[in-house]
Amino acid sequence: MRLPKFEYLRPESVEQASAILREASEEALLMAGGTDLLVAMKQRLKKPRHLIDLKGIPGLDTIHHQDGTLRIGALTTLRQISQSPIVQEKFPALAQASRRAASPQVRNLATIGGNICLSRRCWYHNQSLAWRQSRAPCLRMGGAQCYVVKGGDKCYALHCADTVPPLLTLEAEVKLVSTKGERTMPLDELYLELGPKATTVEPGEILIEVHLPQPPSSSYGLYLKHSGRPSIDFPLVGVAAMVRPDKGKEVCEEARVAVGATCPKPMRLRHSEDVLRGEKVSPAVIANFVDMATREIKPIPHIYGSPGYKRRVVKNLLLEAIEQAWQGAKSV
Ligand SMILES: Cc1cc2nc3c(=O)[nH]c(=O)nc-3n(C[C@H](O)[C@H](O)[C@H](O)COP(=O)(O)OP(=O)(O)OC[C@H]3O[C@@H](n4cnc5c(N)ncnc54)[C@H](O)[C@@H]3O)c2cc1C
Ligand code: SF4
Repeated sequence: MRLPKFEYLRPESVEQASAILREASEEALLMAGGTDLLVAMKQRLKKPRHLIDLKGIPGLDTIHHQDGTLRIGALTTLRQISQSPIVQEKFPALAQASRRAASPQVRNLATIGGNICLSRRCWYHNQSLAWRQSRAPCLRMGGAQCYVVKGGDKCYALHCADTVPPLLTLEAEVKLVSTKGERTMPLDELYLELGPKATTVEPGEILIEVHLPQPPSSSYGLYLKHSGRPSIDFPLVGVAAMVRPDKGKEVCEEARVAVGATCPKPMRLRHSEDVLRGEKVSPAVIANFVDMATREIKPIPHIYGSPGYKRRVVKNLLLEAIEQAWQGAKSV
């Protein structure tokens, strides 16, 4: 598969990149590691006239602490993140998720910004051009129907990025820049409920930084993933959990749980978290929580597994995640 023709541009500053984006409008796409975008271009899912390579911009690939916040540049690779001592020590769920994504070769190029801004995936969509041409185009490709939800008038493709569930439990914020200025927003608010577009990133905006507040002391977080193949595969379900016990290590004072690759939008399970909060943790309380969580998620049919299958996987991963996180927090 060959790439379509495009003009390659390599700005040397965020300002230059924003200006090019403003001029080129929707005919240009940003490229970070290119590990997802170039595949999509080869499959003719995306055909930008101009490709703006962000890797020429210095200073966007660093991890540093400032005012009690960890700041990760958007071009920091998943390998850098998984190997960073501070991420491993203070944000282990993010280190685990970065290590579980793709393969070592891909992680050397793949960036956190690209992972957050990843396009939504669907079994009918992420195929070669020849495969897609064997049937009428779906809604996302300008056709009249969705193959996933019969009679559906929206696109139900899924956001399958590994780093997003842990970032949600870490209450990450993202900083976006355009020629109009900059804005910082909670990551949770970046994602859209349904449709081909995954995020509220506006045309012309560039994600430049991820901010992570210091996690509460004595908390413990982790990420668990289930995929079709043990490695080099997107998650079928990704689950991140963070718990903080009280001083006596019996009662759960805080719980944050997020699930990815199950519904179009990566979700914090805020209602289910309430089941754990303020409770003495026992197998019965964990079972109640998991029961509530499998009702809170709304898996989409026929994308990489039926809703029933996904609910079973979510249930098993959540049981394991909460038990492990609770044991981890007790030993901190
Ligand atoms: C074989 C293979 C296996 C994979 N397995 C996994 C996996 O297990 N888990 C997983 O999560 N991903 C997986 N991926 C997908 C991909 O490699 C990662 O999601 C990666 O983190 C994407 O980052 P990137 O820098 O390469 O993004 P790119 O491909 O450069 O960009 C992805 C999208 O984000 C946009 N974008 C990039 N940076 C910015 C920015 N700073 N601001 C605004 N928009 C931006 C681009 O325009 C594009 O739409 C896999 C890919 C391959 C090829
Ligand atoms: S969810 Fe439906 S509309 Fe969206 S890409 Fe898949 S088949 Fe197309």
